[in-house]
Amino acid sequence: MKLRIGIDDTDSKKGMCTTYLGAVLRDRLRSFAKVLELRLVRLNPNIPWKTRGNGAVALTVETGDYDRAVSETLEVVEDLAALDVEGTNPGVVIAKGDVPSELTSFYYNALHGVVTIEDAAALAEKHGCELHMFKEGRGIIGGLAAIGADLTDHTYEVIAYRTPEYWGRPRHVDPSSVYEMDRATRPATYNNVDPETGRILVTPRSPCPVLYGIRGTDREVLIRAMKMIRAGEPVERWALYKTNQGTDAHLKPCAIEEIEPYSSVIIRGVVSEAPRVIEGGHVIFSIAEGGCSVDCAAYEPTGGFREVVKRLCPGDVVRAYGGVTKENKTVNLEKLEVLDVKELFKLKNPVCPKCGKTMKSAGKGQGFRCRGCGTKAEAKEPVQIERDLKPGLYCVPERAMRHLSRPVVRI
Ligand SMILES: [Zn+2]
Repeated sequence: MKLRIGIDDTDSKKGMCTTYLGAVLRDRLRSFAKVLELRLVRLNPNIPWKTRGNGAVALTVETGDYDRAVSETLEVVEDLAALDVEGTNPGVVIAKGDVPSELTSFYYNALHGVVTIEDAAALAEKHGCELHMFKEGRGIIGGLAAIGADLTDHTYEVIAYRTPEYWGRPRHVDPSSVYEMDRATRPATYNNVDPETGRILVTPRSPCPVLYGIRGTDREVLIRAMKMIRAGEPVERWALYKTNQGTDAHLKPCAIEEIEPYSSVIIRGVVSEAPRVIEGGHVIFSIAEGGCSVDCAAYEPTGGFREVVKRLCPGDVVRAYGGVTKENKTVNLEKLEVLDVKELFKLKNPVCPKCGKTMKSAGKGQGFRCRGCGTKAEAKEPVQIERDLKPGLYCVPERAMRHLSRPVVRI
Protein backbone atom coordinates (compact mmCIF):
# COMPACT_ATOMS: atom_id res chain seq x y z
CA MET A 1 0.00 0.00 0.00
CA LYS A 2 1.15 3.52 -0.77
CA LEU A 3 1.51 5.86 2.21
CA ARG A 4 2.31 9.53 2.33
CA ILE A 5 3.80 10.86 5.54
CA GLY A 6 3.83 14.65 5.97
CA ILE A 7 5.80 16.29 8.79
CA ASP A 8 6.38 19.91 9.78
CA ASP A 9 7.36 22.30 12.54
CA THR A 10 9.95 20.12 14.24
CA ASP A 11 12.80 22.66 14.23
CA SER A 12 13.67 25.80 16.15
CA LYS A 13 16.12 28.67 15.76
CA LYS A 14 18.45 26.77 18.09
CA GLY A 15 18.63 23.62 16.03
CA MET A 16 17.12 20.68 14.21
CA CYS A 17 15.83 20.76 10.66
CA THR A 18 12.71 19.00 9.44
CA THR A 19 14.65 17.74 6.39
CA TYR A 20 17.13 15.95 8.68
CA LEU A 21 14.27 14.30 10.50
CA GLY A 22 12.92 13.23 7.10
CA ALA A 23 16.30 11.72 6.15
CA VAL A 24 16.54 9.79 9.43
CA LEU A 25 12.99 8.52 8.99
CA ARG A 26 13.76 7.42 5.41
CA ASP A 27 16.67 5.35 6.68
CA ARG A 28 14.51 3.75 9.39
CA LEU A 29 11.67 2.97 6.95
CA ARG A 30 14.05 1.46 4.39
CA SER A 31 14.53 -1.66 6.51
CA PHE A 32 10.96 -2.81 5.80
CA ALA A 33 9.46 -0.42 3.21
CA LYS A 34 10.26 1.08 -0.16
CA VAL A 35 10.76 4.85 0.03
CA LEU A 36 9.60 6.25 -3.32
CA GLU A 37 9.99 9.97 -2.87
CA LEU A 38 11.24 12.63 -0.48
CA ARG A 39 9.73 16.07 -0.92
CA LEU A 40 10.64 19.37 0.64
CA VAL A 41 7.80 21.86 0.31
CA ARG A 42 8.20 25.53 1.11
CA LEU A 43 5.05 27.33 2.16
CA ASN A 44 4.02 30.98 2.48
CA PRO A 45 7.28 32.90 3.03
CA ASN A 46 5.48 35.99 4.36
CA ILE A 47 3.99 34.50 7.50
CA PRO A 48 5.60 36.48 10.32
CA TRP A 49 5.32 33.76 12.98
CA LYS A 50 7.39 31.37 10.84
CA THR A 51 10.82 32.93 11.08
CA ARG A 52 12.79 30.22 9.31
CA GLY A 53 12.32 28.77 5.84
CA ASN A 54 8.77 27.53 6.40
CA GLY A 55 9.54 24.17 4.83
CA ALA A 56 7.67 20.93 5.41
CA VAL A 57 8.62 17.43 4.27
CA ALA A 58 6.66 14.47 2.95
CA LEU A 59 7.77 10.90 2.25
CA THR A 60 5.99 8.60 -0.15
CA VAL A 61 6.37 5.00 0.97
CA GLU A 62 5.27 1.60 -0.36
CA THR A 63 4.74 -0.82 2.52
CA GLY A 64 2.56 -3.63 3.78
CA ASP A 65 3.12 -2.64 7.41
CA TYR A 66 1.09 0.51 8.03
CA ASP A 67 1.31 0.31 11.82
CA ARG A 68 5.07 -0.01 11.85
CA ALA A 69 5.46 2.93 9.43
CA VAL A 70 3.37 5.06 11.78
CA SER A 71 5.17 4.00 14.94
CA GLU A 72 8.63 4.55 13.40
CA THR A 73 7.52 8.02 12.28
CA LEU A 74 6.26 9.01 15.72
CA GLU A 75 9.41 7.67 17.37
CA VAL A 76 11.65 9.74 15.10
CA VAL A 77 9.62 12.89 15.76
CA GLU A 78 9.67 12.29 19.52
CA ASP A 79 13.43 11.67 19.45
CA LEU A 80 14.50 14.52 17.22
CA ALA A 81 11.94 17.36 17.21
CA ALA A 82 12.80 20.41 19.33
CA LEU A 83 9.81 19.71 21.56
CA ASP A 84 11.19 21.64 24.53
CA VAL A 85 11.38 24.89 22.54
CA GLU A 86 8.43 27.25 22.74
CA GLY A 87 6.92 27.82 19.32
CA THR A 88 7.91 24.40 17.98
CA ASN A 89 4.65 22.50 17.49
CA PRO A 90 5.21 19.40 15.40
CA GLY A 91 2.52 17.71 13.39
CA VAL A 92 2.40 14.44 11.45
CA VAL A 93 -0.13 13.56 8.74
CA ILE A 94 -0.45 10.10 7.22
CA ALA A 95 -2.51 9.64 4.06
CA LYS A 96 -3.22 6.39 2.21
CA GLY A 97 -3.44 6.02 -1.55
CA ASP A 98 -3.79 8.81 -4.09
CA VAL A 99 -3.77 12.49 -3.21
CA PRO A 100 -7.26 14.04 -3.34
CA SER A 101 -7.42 17.30 -5.32
CA GLU A 102 -8.68 19.13 -2.22
CA LEU A 103 -5.30 18.56 -0.61
CA THR A 104 -3.65 20.23 -3.59
CA SER A 105 -6.00 23.22 -3.17
CA PHE A 106 -5.03 23.27 0.50
CA TYR A 107 -1.35 23.39 -0.52
CA TYR A 108 -2.01 26.46 -2.67
CA ASN A 109 -3.89 28.14 0.18
CA ALA A 110 -0.97 27.46 2.54
CA LEU A 111 1.41 28.84 -0.09
CA HIS A 112 -0.49 32.02 -0.98
CA GLY A 113 -2.38 32.86 2.18
CA VAL A 114 -2.95 31.98 5.80
CA VAL A 115 -4.57 28.70 6.88
CA THR A 116 -5.40 27.50 10.38
CA ILE A 117 -4.76 24.30 12.30
CA GLU A 118 -8.55 23.81 12.33
CA ASP A 119 -8.71 24.03 8.50
CA ALA A 120 -6.02 21.36 8.27
CA ALA A 121 -7.61 19.08 10.87
CA ALA A 122 -11.06 19.26 9.24
CA LEU A 123 -9.70 18.47 5.79
CA ALA A 124 -7.50 15.63 7.07
CA GLU A 125 -10.48 14.09 8.82
CA LYS A 126 -12.68 14.40 5.72
CA HIS A 127 -10.14 12.43 3.69
CA GLY A 128 -9.41 9.82 6.36
CA CYS A 129 -5.84 10.95 7.09
CA GLU A 130 -4.28 10.00 10.40
CA LEU A 131 -3.14 13.00 12.46
CA HIS A 132 -0.62 13.28 15.28
CA MET A 133 -0.25 16.63 16.97
CA PHE A 134 2.56 17.42 19.39
CA LYS A 135 1.84 20.37 21.69
CA GLU A 136 -0.30 22.75 19.55
CA GLY A 137 0.30 20.58 16.50
CA ARG A 138 0.71 23.48 14.05
CA GLY A 139 2.88 21.20 11.92
CA ILE A 140 -0.16 19.38 10.56
CA ILE A 141 -0.68 22.41 8.28
CA GLY A 142 2.67 21.95 6.56
CA GLY A 143 2.44 18.16 6.73
CA LEU A 144 -0.88 18.14 4.91
CA ALA A 145 0.25 20.79 2.41
CA ALA A 146 3.44 18.86 1.66
CA ILE A 147 1.41 15.74 0.86
CA GLY A 148 -0.93 17.78 -1.37
CA ALA A 149 1.78 19.85 -3.09
CA ASP A 150 1.67 20.03 -6.86
CA LEU A 151 5.30 19.55 -7.91
CA THR A 152 4.71 19.52 -11.67
CA ASP A 153 7.29 22.29 -11.77
CA HIS A 154 10.05 21.33 -9.36
CA THR A 155 13.75 21.43 -8.60
CA TYR A 156 15.92 19.29 -6.30
CA GLU A 157 18.11 19.91 -3.29
CA VAL A 158 20.76 17.50 -2.12
CA ILE A 159 21.52 18.00 1.56
CA ALA A 160 24.49 16.60 3.48
CA TYR A 161 24.09 16.28 7.26
CA ARG A 162 26.57 16.51 10.14
CA THR A 163 27.09 13.91 12.83
CA PRO A 164 25.50 15.09 16.11
CA GLU A 165 28.82 15.95 17.80
CA TYR A 166 29.35 18.70 15.21
CA TRP A 167 25.92 20.32 15.56
CA GLY A 168 26.26 23.95 16.59
CA ARG A 169 30.00 24.05 15.82
CA PRO A 170 31.51 26.13 12.97
CA ARG A 171 31.31 24.49 9.56
CA HIS A 172 34.59 23.95 7.74
CA VAL A 173 33.65 23.62 4.10
CA ASP A 174 36.51 24.37 1.71
CA PRO A 175 35.38 27.44 -0.28
CA SER A 176 37.57 26.56 -3.28
CA SER A 177 35.75 23.20 -3.59
CA VAL A 178 32.45 25.11 -3.73
CA TYR A 179 33.76 27.45 -6.45
CA GLU A 180 35.02 24.45 -8.43
CA MET A 181 31.72 22.63 -8.05
CA ASP A 182 29.84 25.78 -9.10
CA ARG A 183 31.92 26.20 -12.24
CA ALA A 184 31.66 22.51 -13.14
CA THR A 185 27.91 22.07 -12.65
CA ARG A 186 26.24 25.39 -13.38
CA PRO A 187 23.47 25.93 -14.59
CA ALA A 188 22.24 22.47 -13.47
CA THR A 189 23.04 23.73 -9.95
CA TYR A 190 22.52 27.30 -8.79
CA ASN A 191 22.73 29.69 -5.82
CA ASN A 192 26.02 28.11 -4.75
CA VAL A 193 27.94 31.37 -4.55
CA ASP A 194 26.82 34.99 -4.46
CA PRO A 195 28.49 36.66 -7.45
CA GLU A 196 28.22 40.14 -5.92
CA THR A 197 30.13 39.27 -2.72
CA GLY A 198 31.73 35.87 -3.48
CA ARG A 199 30.00 34.50 -0.40
CA ILE A 200 29.43 30.72 -0.19
CA LEU A 201 25.68 30.08 -0.05
CA VAL A 202 25.54 26.28 0.29
CA THR A 203 26.24 26.31 4.03
CA PRO A 204 23.49 27.55 6.35
CA ARG A 205 24.35 29.89 9.21
CA SER A 206 22.00 28.34 11.74
CA PRO A 207 23.10 25.66 14.25
CA CYS A 208 21.03 22.98 12.48
CA PRO A 209 22.28 19.50 11.38
CA VAL A 210 22.75 20.63 7.75
CA LEU A 211 26.39 20.73 6.62
CA TYR A 212 25.54 22.02 3.15
CA GLY A 213 22.72 21.94 0.63
CA ILE A 214 23.06 22.22 -3.14
CA ARG A 215 20.13 23.24 -5.31
CA GLY A 216 19.62 22.29 -8.89
CA THR A 217 17.54 20.78 -11.64
CA ASP A 218 19.23 17.44 -12.30
CA ARG A 219 19.48 14.60 -9.77
CA GLU A 220 22.65 13.03 -11.20
CA VAL A 221 24.46 16.35 -11.45
CA LEU A 222 23.52 17.15 -7.85
CA ILE A 223 24.97 13.90 -6.55
CA ARG A 224 28.15 14.58 -8.51
CA ALA A 225 28.21 18.15 -7.15
CA MET A 226 27.84 16.88 -3.59
CA LYS A 227 30.84 14.61 -4.02
CA MET A 228 32.95 17.58 -5.14
CA ILE A 229 32.55 19.42 -1.84
CA ARG A 230 35.45 19.04 0.60
CA ALA A 231 34.56 19.41 4.26
CA GLY A 232 36.63 19.08 7.39
CA GLU A 233 34.19 16.71 9.05
CA PRO A 234 32.30 13.51 8.25
CA VAL A 235 28.95 13.48 6.46
CA GLU A 236 26.55 11.41 8.56
CA ARG A 237 24.03 10.89 5.77
CA TRP A 238 22.59 12.76 2.82
CA ALA A 239 19.21 13.11 1.16
CA LEU A 240 17.97 14.28 -2.20
CA TYR A 241 14.70 16.15 -1.94
CA LYS A 242 12.28 16.99 -4.73
CA THR A 243 11.06 20.50 -3.98
CA ASN A 244 9.02 23.52 -5.02
CA GLN A 245 12.07 25.72 -4.35
CA GLY A 246 13.14 27.86 -7.28
CA THR A 247 9.77 27.66 -9.03
CA ASP A 248 8.05 30.97 -8.12
CA ALA A 249 5.04 28.85 -7.06
CA HIS A 250 4.29 31.40 -4.33
CA LEU A 251 3.73 34.30 -6.74
CA LYS A 252 0.27 35.01 -8.06
CA PRO A 253 -0.77 37.72 -10.53
CA CYS A 254 -3.28 40.16 -9.08
CA ALA A 255 -4.57 43.72 -9.41
CA ILE A 256 -3.15 46.34 -7.05
CA GLU A 257 -6.54 46.80 -5.37
CA GLU A 258 -6.78 43.05 -4.64
CA ILE A 259 -3.47 42.73 -2.76
CA GLU A 260 -3.93 40.77 0.49
CA PRO A 261 -1.59 40.94 3.49
CA TYR A 262 0.89 38.00 3.62
CA SER A 263 0.40 37.14 -0.07
CA SER A 264 3.05 37.02 -2.80
CA VAL A 265 2.04 38.92 -5.90
CA ILE A 266 2.82 39.82 -9.48
CA ILE A 267 1.46 43.30 -10.19
CA ARG A 268 1.68 45.51 -13.24
CA GLY A 269 1.57 49.27 -12.99
CA VAL A 270 3.00 52.65 -13.87
CA VAL A 271 5.58 54.21 -11.57
CA SER A 272 3.64 56.96 -9.83
CA GLU A 273 6.18 58.11 -7.28
CA ALA A 274 9.91 58.28 -7.93
CA PRO A 275 12.22 56.05 -5.89
CA ARG A 276 13.48 57.49 -2.62
CA VAL A 277 16.16 56.14 -0.33
CA ILE A 278 15.07 55.85 3.28
CA GLU A 279 17.02 55.23 6.48
CA GLY A 280 18.92 51.96 6.39
CA GLY A 281 19.51 52.23 2.64
CA HIS A 282 16.16 50.81 1.57
CA VAL A 283 14.65 52.13 -1.68
CA ILE A 284 10.90 52.74 -1.93
CA PHE A 285 8.76 53.78 -4.90
CA SER A 286 5.08 53.57 -5.81
CA ILE A 287 3.27 52.07 -8.74
CA ALA A 288 -0.33 52.70 -9.75
CA GLU A 289 -2.95 50.95 -11.84
CA GLY A 290 -6.68 51.61 -12.20
CA GLY A 291 -6.72 54.38 -9.61
CA CYS A 292 -4.96 52.32 -6.91
CA SER A 293 -1.35 52.54 -5.90
CA VAL A 294 1.04 50.51 -3.76
CA ASP A 295 4.54 51.00 -2.37
CA CYS A 296 7.29 48.67 -3.56
CA ALA A 297 10.51 48.25 -1.60
CA ALA A 298 14.00 47.07 -2.45
CA TYR A 299 15.51 46.50 0.97
CA GLU A 300 19.17 47.02 1.82
CA PRO A 301 20.14 43.29 1.64
CA THR A 302 19.16 43.31 -2.04
CA GLY A 303 22.45 45.16 -2.70
CA GLY A 304 23.05 46.13 -6.32
CA PHE A 305 19.44 45.43 -7.26
CA ARG A 306 18.64 48.77 -5.58
CA GLU A 307 20.77 50.61 -8.16
CA VAL A 308 18.40 49.44 -10.89
CA VAL A 309 15.36 50.41 -8.84
CA LYS A 310 16.76 53.90 -8.21
CA ARG A 311 16.80 54.58 -11.97
CA LEU A 312 13.01 54.29 -12.28
CA CYS A 313 11.10 57.46 -13.14
CA PRO A 314 7.40 58.28 -12.93
CA GLY A 315 5.71 57.01 -16.08
CA ASP A 316 7.84 53.87 -16.47
CA VAL A 317 5.76 50.70 -16.80
CA VAL A 318 6.83 47.77 -14.64
CA ARG A 319 5.79 44.34 -13.42
CA ALA A 320 6.72 43.89 -9.76
CA TYR A 321 7.15 40.48 -8.10
CA GLY A 322 7.26 40.17 -4.33
CA GLY A 323 5.85 39.32 -0.94
CA VAL A 324 3.49 41.40 1.15
CA THR A 325 4.31 41.11 4.82
CA LYS A 326 2.43 43.84 6.60
CA GLU A 327 -0.99 45.39 6.83
CA ASN A 328 0.33 48.45 4.97
CA LYS A 329 0.86 46.12 2.01
CA THR A 330 4.31 47.20 0.88
CA VAL A 331 5.55 44.80 -1.80
CA ASN A 332 8.99 43.47 -0.82
CA LEU A 333 10.56 43.08 -4.28
CA GLU A 334 12.03 39.76 -5.41
CA LYS A 335 12.11 40.65 -9.11
CA LEU A 336 11.30 43.64 -11.26
CA GLU A 337 10.44 43.56 -14.92
CA VAL A 338 10.86 46.91 -16.64
CA LEU A 339 8.32 46.83 -19.48
CA ASP A 340 8.54 50.36 -20.82
CA VAL A 341 11.02 53.13 -20.11
CA LYS A 342 9.33 56.49 -20.51
CA GLU A 343 11.00 59.00 -22.80
CA LEU A 344 11.91 62.06 -20.78
CA PHE A 345 12.67 65.52 -22.07
CA LYS A 346 14.00 68.71 -20.60
CA LEU A 347 13.72 72.19 -22.03
CA LYS A 348 16.89 73.82 -23.23
CA ASN A 349 17.72 77.05 -25.01
CA PRO A 350 17.37 76.51 -28.77
CA VAL A 351 20.40 75.83 -30.97
CA CYS A 352 20.92 78.14 -33.94
CA PRO A 353 20.11 76.24 -37.17
CA LYS A 354 22.71 78.26 -39.11
CA CYS A 355 25.79 78.22 -36.91
CA GLY A 356 25.00 75.48 -34.38
CA LYS A 357 25.58 77.65 -31.33
CA THR A 358 23.27 77.69 -28.33
CA MET A 359 21.11 80.82 -28.45
CA LYS A 360 20.91 83.22 -25.55
CA SER A 361 17.86 84.89 -24.06
CA ALA A 362 16.97 88.08 -25.89
CA GLY A 363 15.53 89.60 -22.70
CA LYS A 364 12.46 88.81 -20.65
CA GLY A 365 9.57 87.80 -22.93
CA GLN A 366 11.70 88.48 -26.03
CA GLY A 367 12.55 84.88 -26.95
CA PHE A 368 16.06 83.83 -27.96
CA ARG A 369 18.68 85.19 -30.26
CA CYS A 370 21.90 83.88 -31.74
CA ARG A 371 24.86 86.05 -30.78
CA GLY A 372 26.70 85.01 -33.91
CA CYS A 373 24.22 85.69 -36.71
CA GLY A 374 21.20 87.24 -35.07
CA THR A 375 18.76 84.42 -35.87
CA LYS A 376 15.79 84.50 -33.52
CA ALA A 377 13.67 81.80 -31.90
CA GLU A 378 10.58 82.07 -29.73
CA ALA A 379 10.84 79.33 -27.09
CA LYS A 380 13.04 76.73 -25.43
CA GLU A 381 13.23 73.35 -27.15
CA PRO A 382 12.63 69.92 -25.63
CA VAL A 383 15.73 67.76 -25.62
CA GLN A 384 15.50 64.03 -24.88
CA ILE A 385 17.25 62.90 -21.71
CA GLU A 386 19.22 59.70 -22.03
CA ARG A 387 17.81 57.06 -19.62
CA ASP A 388 20.22 54.69 -17.89
CA LEU A 389 17.58 51.96 -17.59
CA LYS A 390 16.73 49.30 -20.16
CA PRO A 391 13.60 47.17 -20.40
CA GLY A 392 14.23 43.70 -19.00
CA LEU A 393 13.95 41.45 -15.98
CA TYR A 394 16.02 42.28 -12.90
CA CYS A 395 16.38 39.93 -9.91
CA VAL A 396 17.68 40.38 -6.38
CA PRO A 397 21.15 38.83 -5.86
CA GLU A 398 21.46 35.15 -4.95
CA ARG A 399 22.20 35.80 -1.28
CA ALA A 400 18.92 37.73 -0.87
CA MET A 401 16.80 35.27 -2.84
CA ARG A 402 13.91 33.46 -1.24
CA HIS A 403 13.85 29.64 -1.27
CA LEU A 404 10.83 29.72 -3.58
CA SER A 405 12.18 32.33 -6.02
CA ARG A 406 12.95 31.13 -9.50
CA PRO A 407 16.66 31.75 -10.06
CA VAL A 408 17.89 33.54 -13.18
CA VAL A 409 19.26 30.26 -14.62
CA ARG A 410 15.71 28.85 -14.67
CA ILE A 411 14.16 31.85 -16.45
ZN1 LIG B 1 23.57 81.75 -35.64
